[in-house]
Amino acid sequence: MNIEYVKSVIRNVPDFPKPGIQFKDITTALKDPKALSFMIDHLYEYYKDKGITKVAGIESRGFIIGPALAARLGAGFVMIRKPGKLPADTIQKSYALEYGEDTIEMHKDAIGENDVVLVHDDLLATGGTALAALELVQEVGAKSVLVNFLIELAFLDGTARLSSAEDVYAMIKY
Ligand code: IMP
Repeated sequence: MNIEYVKSVIRNVPDFPKPGIQFKDITTALKDPKALSFMIDHLYEYYKDKGITKVAGIESRGFIIGPALAARLGAGFVMIRKPGKLPADTIQKSYALEYGEDTIEMHKDAIGENDVVLVHDDLLATGGTALAALELVQEVGAKSVLVNFLIELAFLDGTARLSSAEDVYAMIKY
């Protein structure tokens, strides 16, 4: 079992959600028991000595591997959500999309100054979503912030926008 196997079970869906996009679909890797446990094991090995105290998953595909990894690391799990879903006081961040704008939010008390936070999402494209999440976590005063993806579309160079993170790691690159 290795990263190449996981890559082989990620499905490419052409023209989704619109013409010209090659959508990387992780559902075919998640339903494969060997790939699912390998992804969690692999990320645990990478992060086990980095002192992570919270994993912050980005809605919604950051809510799949994120909590499983947090539990393995002995860390807590925090939700970064679309607006209007979290019940208590939140801090928000808006960011530009190709057309228009999007917003994410997190509970104000989700992260403290002693936390070493791993922001996690399934895929890095332009980096807009991850940068907003990174800034949100930095603004609430985390001790340090690392960022993780299952997949990076390396040709879009999204990592360049995440240079204020302690570390950026993607398991699979295209
Ligand atoms: P970015 O903000 O441009 O980096 O886009 C990343 C966000 O869009 C992540 O939350 C991804 O889940 C989603 N996304 C963009 N392209 C894909 C794809 O090909 N497969 C799965 N998710 C994608």
